[in-house]
Amino acid sequence: MKWFWLVMVLFWTGGFAWIADNVRTALRNRHERKLQLMDAAKEERLAVDAAHLAPEPVCGCTHHLAKHDKQGHCHERVEVPTAWDENRKPVRYEAGQCNCQQYVGPQPLSQVYADDLTDRI
Ligand SMILES: [Zn+2]
Ligand SMILES: [Zn+2]
Repeated sequence: MKWFWLVMVLFWTGGFAWIADNVRTALRNRHERKLQLMDAAKEERLAVDAAHLAPEPVCGCTHHLAKHDKQGHCHERVEVPTAWDENRKPVRYEAGQCNCQQYVGPQPLSQVYADDLTDRI
């Protein structure tokens, strides 16, 4: 039975370390896989959120819908160049009003709150 002890000693010294190493690696792999799954779930949730969100009502003149009046004229204050250098680059600005004549961005959905019609008690 001497060989048996020899095998046991070999196993204890080298084998345990090897097993522990493998278990550690397996656990780490599982942990990483779990993190990846969580990341994927988070991205999916963000994508769903983005799909449900109404688009920002921003006009082609880069100004928000709130800056436009009922006729569609934009009232945002902008810098109007009043002087140019020889390279046609504006060097002086003056305060002015945006030239936009019509809001062309996405229309936000009306956010009217309506009560449920049925009585649910
Ligand atoms: Zn504008
Ligand atoms: Zn506009």
